[in-house]
Amino acid sequence: MASPSARPGRRRITAAVGTVLSLTAACALGQLAVQPAVAAGTSATAPTVTAFTDGFEDQTGSTPSGRWSTSVRDCSGTGTATVDSSKAHSGSKSIRVDGKTGYCNHAFVGTTLSGGGPLYVRFWINHTTALPTGHVAFAAMKDANDGGKDLRMGGQNQALQWNRESDDATLPAQSPVGVSMSKPLPTNTWSCIEYGIDGGHLTTWLNGSEVAGLIADGTPTSDVDNQWVQSRPGWSPSLQDLRLGWESYAQGDDTLWFDDIAVSSSKIGC
Ligand code: CA
Repeated sequence: MASPSARPGRRRITAAVGTVLSLTAACALGQLAVQPAVAAGTSATAPTVTAFTDGFEDQTGSTPSGRWSTSVRDCSGTGTATVDSSKAHSGSKSIRVDGKTGYCNHAFVGTTLSGGGPLYVRFWINHTTALPTGHVAFAAMKDANDGGKDLRMGGQNQALQWNRESDDATLPAQSPVGVSMSKPLPTNTWSCIEYGIDGGHLTTWLNGSEVAGLIADGTPTSDVDNQWVQSRPGWSPSLQDLRLGWESYAQGDDTLWFDDIAVSSSKIGC
């Protein structure tokens, strides 16, 4: 009862089996060793992020200029981000952010990122007020692979955390054990924060030391990245900008300074 249209299908299957047999033979002869060279060629032409370092010493006014903008994407209020000469990690200038409670008081200084591939960001941060219990963010990056929503770094339960705006997943999980695997952000001193994002892997360092609770390695770990991974399998951000400042969703005023920002495709260090 085979219809005429079924016969070409059978012939295709025969051809596929023949191809498999040929590939098997080729593997046995080691002839597929050519394939890694193709992969390496693809990697060599992949775009890499445009690196820069900036200590704000070339800023001439109180309004951030050059690569930096204080424009916000939706609403704004009483928060401000200005060039400041009262405190600096190096040189004499930094960015001061007067952060206020309430989402629409958010204030950032931001710059676009170009290129792609692994992204490492390092900045020095100093602030006056311990991270609150409520959720806050002091860094945000627009993720083109997540509907344009932000990947955010800040704090909750008085410790550093990552948060995905799209699904509100946190890293680490906000269980007592998870929070204990993160670190508070020291006040009234300069701290070096660095993070590296390569595909779906995220690593964070505070003053040069990895923070166990701030690592997403793609393998779900209880109290750390279990929710992060399982809520969004295959998460692999494509980050379009870097914004440093303050966003408070429930409680928490803070005054923060940022200096010596660095963006690179490889580990930067403090
Ligand atoms: Ca500076």
